[in-house]
Amino acid sequence: MSNHREVIIIGSGPAGLTAAIYTARANLKPLQFEGYSNGGQLMLTTDVENYPGFRDGIMGPDLMEEMKAQAVRFGTEIVSKDVERVDFSERPFKVWVEGEEFQADTVIIATGATARLLGIPGESELMGRGVSTCATCDGAFFRDKLIGMVGGGDSAIEEANFLTRFGKTVYVIHRREELRASKIMQQRAFDNPKIEMVWNTIVEQVHGQDEGKVTSVQVKDTQTGEERAMPLDALFVAIGHTPTSEFLAGQIELDENGYIVTQGKGSATSVEGVFACGDCQDHVYRQAITAAGSGCMAAIDAERWLEGYQPG
Ligand code: NAP
Repeated sequence: MSNHREVIIIGSGPAGLTAAIYTARANLKPLQFEGYSNGGQLMLTTDVENYPGFRDGIMGPDLMEEMKAQAVRFGTEIVSKDVERVDFSERPFKVWVEGEEFQADTVIIATGATARLLGIPGESELMGRGVSTCATCDGAFFRDKLIGMVGGGDSAIEEANFLTRFGKTVYVIHRREELRASKIMQQRAFDNPKIEMVWNTIVEQVHGQDEGKVTSVQVKDTQTGEERAMPLDALFVAIGHTPTSEFLAGQIELDENGYIVTQGKGSATSVEGVFACGDCQDHVYRQAITAAGSGCMAAIDAERWLEGYQPG
């Protein structure tokens, strides 16, 4: 395998694989480092009902398998390893994978983000079986059910409001007695008759492993120390996301939360010839379809940039 490529893509969620499909079809023979945990956040979901083209929905991992097969069909070379380090200070750019150096005329970064979790017993075990980090994706599965939402930021409150379309009651479980969310979002939640605030409360455990679905959560009042089981059918967790960008520190402009800064409406980053797409640069929409769309944009931006690029 030649270690110099026109395009290296880092990451393999909907953004990275769409970038691969487009750059491969443009004959750029992309090399894609999909990472050890390939496929991104959709690998952790069950039914995906909001990705256009699948009238009956599709399982998250199946959707990613289809995208990967499509990228391979057009000649993408996929390597199941993580990128450890990059050097964007001069062209060709350098990318290190398990100590081996690769070079690229252009790099597309699509490393995604991971939803922060509480790290409590039962949470990972029941992920996709009542525990979720995406209300847009999973809310519709809990019609007339009791839903818990952990967090007090804009995401938690926005998603709690959204979940009232489905749930009987949505309990916002927050560790303090004041929300971090913007005032207008707070007011919307306080005015919503289906939302109940559960203040000064932390969730300690998710129950339901024997039943294969969430049945209740163990909560603790931080003021009184009182513990109780709260019957719930679903627990949504919205306590922030962490973009996968540590390996880019000092190489490219990141915002204060670690998201890659892209310019204007496109995918260009602070380094000419390096493009970013998907959740590693988007903390607002975070949908599979928006990630895929931005992967297409990054591929087109990279292709156009390469047309004017003269290797040194
Ligand atoms: P965020 O603003 O960082 O809020 C995270 C929330 O989770 C906080 O309330 C925090 O509690 C709580 N939390 C953190 N760790 C926790 C833990 N271990 N256990 C329990 N609770 C925990 O994150 P976000 O809501 O995802 O928002 C991220 C950014 O996107 C923000 O800038 C936000 O304004 C923006 N956003 C905007 C919109 C909109 O404008 N429509 C929608 C969504 C997001 P504390 O408050 O006690 O720290």
